[in-house]
Amino acid sequence: MERSGSKEEVRQAVGAARREGKRVALVPTMGALHEGHLSLVRAACERADYVIVSLFVNPMQFAPGEDFEAYPRDLDGDLTLLAAEGADFVFAPSAETMYAPDASVTVDPGPLGAVWEGASRPTHFRGVCTVVAKLFAITSPALGFFGEKDYQQLQVVRRMARDLDLPVRVVGCPIVRHADGLAMSSRNAYLSADQRAAAPVLYHALRTAETLALGGETDTRALAGAMAETIAAEPLARIDYAAVVHPETLEPLDALDGPARAIVAAHVGATRLIDNMALVGGDGGEAKAGDA
Ligand code: AMP
Repeated sequence: MERSGSKEEVRQAVGAARREGKRVALVPTMGALHEGHLSLVRAACERADYVIVSLFVNPMQFAPGEDFEAYPRDLDGDLTLLAAEGADFVFAPSAETMYAPDASVTVDPGPLGAVWEGASRPTHFRGVCTVVAKLFAITSPALGFFGEKDYQQLQVVRRMARDLDLPVRVVGCPIVRHADGLAMSSRNAYLSADQRAAAPVLYHALRTAETLALGGETDTRALAGAMAETIAAEPLARIDYAAVVHPETLEPLDALDGPARAIVAAHVGATRLIDNMALVGGDGGEAKAGDA
């Protein structure tokens, strides 16, 4: 496994791989890797011949007062895990390498970046789009792997690739969870023991909506209300949003009559957690399964 913080070195390595006819994949991460990240690396190794993993805590996607300084970092641990997975190249640049001191051009995520997470974190998706566009430009991957854990991010990046004609296929990968349902996240490290015990409430809320949908409930206000009630019943959690949205536009749906995504965000203590789950309603859906 090669490792570098230099744009030039990763470009050269990718150039050599492409000349050998290899299909190149990129897995962008902020490090402090866990099984969720590693599942993306495994998916990339299955579908590509040359897998680059980037480790970069991107200052631009954190607002002042957010957890940029506190964000967990473990370069040595990450390198050990990635070598074991068979990644080909780890690109771990410094902020100074990534951004010129007077860098001023950014990527506007558009309306998809202004809702939900974007409403709470107004500059977040501009930072995400800008760094992902740069990483795509530096590594020229045929495939880019992103987790459904950050569902809105996945949709925003897909839209960016489409709208800017970036020659990369954006691949979404399923959420990896702990045994109690909590979605794996580097930020779970912030939780105290009590908060960690309370945190699966987001998953419970999503499962509540899923169960109602499978039982035939199609009123998305009822589904969203049930999710909010579940979270409200946990004293250590404070809801930010719970909604049922279109899986691509992320617009709230009135009725569950086709593919949909349940999305939730809540604070547990000072830590903001997000989670989501696919819901299926309507004729093609499991909600109707069993109807005869
Ligand atoms: P991060 O390091 O948090 O920026 O995440 C890097 C990538 O890993 C993103 O595409 C995330 O969506 C993905 N990811 C993080 N946690 C999980 C998880 N529990 N399951 C699947 N993918 C994940």
